[in-house]
Amino acid sequence: MQDGKAHEDRIHEDVERVLVPSAAIAARVRALATMLGEDYSHADGRLTVVPVMTGSLLFAADLVRALPQRHLRIQLTTVSSYGGTATASRGSSVVGALPKHLAGHHVLIVDDILDSGGTLRLLRKEFEDRGAADVRACVLLRKRIPSALGTPCEYVGFDIDDEFVVGYGLDYDDLYRNLPYVGTLRKDARRS
Ligand code: 5GP
Ligand code: MG
Repeated sequence: MQDGKAHEDRIHEDVERVLVPSAAIAARVRALATMLGEDYSHADGRLTVVPVMTGSLLFAADLVRALPQRHLRIQLTTVSSYGGTATASRGSSVVGALPKHLAGHHVLIVDDILDSGGTLRLLRKEFEDRGAADVRACVLLRKRIPSALGTPCEYVGFDIDDEFVVGYGLDYDDLYRNLPYVGTLRKDARRS
């Protein structure tokens, strides 16, 4: 984790507004990790963290390093919902193989943003069907819309307005994932 201040002196020219600065992300990640550490204190050795690629790459990397549990597994999964330059959800599907050997494990799904809820509903069911002891979800962002607020999710970093955001893992056409903050994209930076 970094405080990111130096980076945010130079906001990317395609970014309209910074919604969540990197320092706020870092503080919230630490708070979530403390909460998770307490809630999973019984799960040492039987915790499997499942980051949803590619959007949760940065969030998951920071979160697992901040977790007090040192004995956990990480199994990536890829779910496609948006593609390329689309900014509206087109339903979720798993790409490639799902994580294996989840029976008896406490599974923590880590995702970037909760929008339609399709991703979390799909993964939760798959992991429960595979015999997980329990399945919980942790998202960095949740949109203040009924579909997101109505989807069960145990840990939420920030509730945000219903805007298309990029940065800290979130992309537009695979760009902007490396920005250390979350922000909105200028209209003229969109290609569709
Ligand atoms: P859901 O399955 O809840 O509709 O959507 C989750 C996925 O949609 C996220 O993991 C993310 O990949 C994508 N998504 C939803 N809203 C946004 C957004 O505002 N910006 C970006 N970059 N991706 C989003
Ligand atoms: Mg995603």
